[in-house]
Parts: sequence; structure tokens; C-alpha cells
Amino acid sequence: MFDRLDKKRRDVGWVLAARESKAFRYLVLDSDSHLVYLRDAPDISELPLFSTDLLPSHFGNRAHGVLLGERDGEVIFCFDSEVMGPEFMDMTESVDSRLVTQNLSPMDSSIFLMARALTLWSVTVQFCGRCGSPTEKLAGGMSYRCEKPICSTKHYPKIDPAVIMLVTDGGDQVALGRGRRHPEGMFSCFAGFLEPGESIEDAVVREVNEESGLHVEELKYFSSQAWPYPSAVMIGFIANARKTELVLDSDEILEGRWFSRSELEIAREAGSRTLPRQGSLARELLDFWLDD
Ligand SMILES: [Zn+2]
Repeated sequence: MFDRLDKKRRDVGWVLAARESKAFRYLVLDSDSHLVYLRDAPDISELPLFSTDLLPSHFGNRAHGVLLGERDGEVIFCFDSEVMGPEFMDMTESVDSRLVTQNLSPMDSSIFLMARALTLWSVTVQFCGRCGSPTEKLAGGMSYRCEKPICSTKHYPKIDPAVIMLVTDGGDQVALGRGRRHPEGMFSCFAGFLEPGESIEDAVVREVNEESGLHVEELKYFSSQAWPYPSAVMIGFIANARKTELVLDSDEILEGRWFSRSELEIAREAGSRTLPRQGSLARELLDFWLDD
């Protein structure tokens, strides 16, 4: 089990003692927030956690690092590659976050996404968004507070909720689209971010309509997935719509149409690139529907 140490991390003394114990393990992210691993140990099916033997001798600055949590009795921090020094970096390579989350177990993936989201967020919260004064890090990097006493605004990490929908006709057809970022020939579920003041259900109806012109009549929650771009959560639904002609939003969707179950089954069988990649929530939605 992975414990995010919600109570312990609020105790500054506990966090510092954990950092000084030399008993912790840590992962390292490079300047692009890609995961760093030892060149001699390129297997990244498990999270590459380093021991404190590899910390550089100058490593004394308490401001660095994010406390992630505890797993199997081991406290885990995350450090930026900049503080690790050239000797460490000479032994390592880094790998794109997209490839990492595909290969890791759900727990390791969750730890990595937490590290990435908090590290990226920490860059944006060095100054108070309300008064512009510097901020101080609290709770091992889970929150920040404005240092100006009269302001003292607390800042918490932002998570962007997004909805993703498999739209069916209630029978044997689904409507899929190819977004601007999808490779030629690949079709996926419609998706988009929530807007302020909107319920999750409202966002499903609006996004499907904006992207495809379809009117969703029934929707059923499927599951959710943390998404590292940079700190979103995808909330998946299966939604039914009347089977009408698609009217695409050409700014976002380059192609789109109805697909039959048998057409997608053949594509899946052939390992074709028509379907979204394995591990994505879009693919889980499609696999669930095909196997149902
Ligand atoms: Zn402030």
C-alpha cells in the first residue's frame, strides 16, 4: 500500500527528520519532468527508486525535494535532477512520462504521476498569485503559503478534471473521432475539460455535442484515471446518443464517424493502430464495450 502521509507531512520536524535519516528512497525527474533511471538498470517496469548512497555530497539544501509518501515502510521523496550533480547524471538516462505510465503498475504509476504533478506545480507557485510575494513550502510540497503576513494565502495543487466518453447508439455502433493530436488513422473517444460552474454530467453532454454534434441521452459512469498533462484526471463514461450524422468541430476533430462492433473487433484482433493505445482510458472504454 502507498500512504501519502497526510498527517505526518504536516509536521515540519517529521519531514526534516525523514530527510536527514538517510533511510529514505527517492525518484528523480529531469528538467522536462521525465523520469530518470540508471543507465545500467534500464528496466522501468518498476519505479526506479534510488538509495541515499547516490546523493551528492553537497546535498544539504532542505528546500529541495517533494515528500511523496511511504510504501512498504520506506519513505519516498522526489528530487529535481538539477540538485543531483553531474556524477549522478552521468550514470543516468531519462524516459518520457507517457512511456513510463504505460509500463508501471497502477501503484507505481500513481506515485510517479504525483511526483510529476507536484514538481511541475511547484515551479508555478514560488510567488503568491494574490499579492506576488514569495511563498514557503508546506507539507513536504503538498501546499505553499504566502510569506507576507497580511496575505498568508495558502496555495494547493490544481487538478484539472476532464471527461472522456464512449458514445454508442445503444446498439452495435460507436462514434469515434480523430483529434488534432492523434496520429493519422487512429480514432478515439470524445473528451474535454470541465468548464467553471459545470457539473461533470453537463460537461459530458456539452463536449460530445461540441465535438460531434451528437445529443447524449443516457450516460453511465465507467472509471477514472490520473493523467499527467500535467495534472488532470480523466473521468470516463459510456453515453448513448441517437444515431445521427456527425457534425464535427473542425478546430479539434479532424475526422469522425460511426464504427461497427465487428469493424473494431477486427482492428483489435489485428493490433491495428485504429484503436487508442493500451493503458489509456479510451482503450479501456472500448475494450469494455467490445467484450460486453
Ligand atoms: Zn500573498
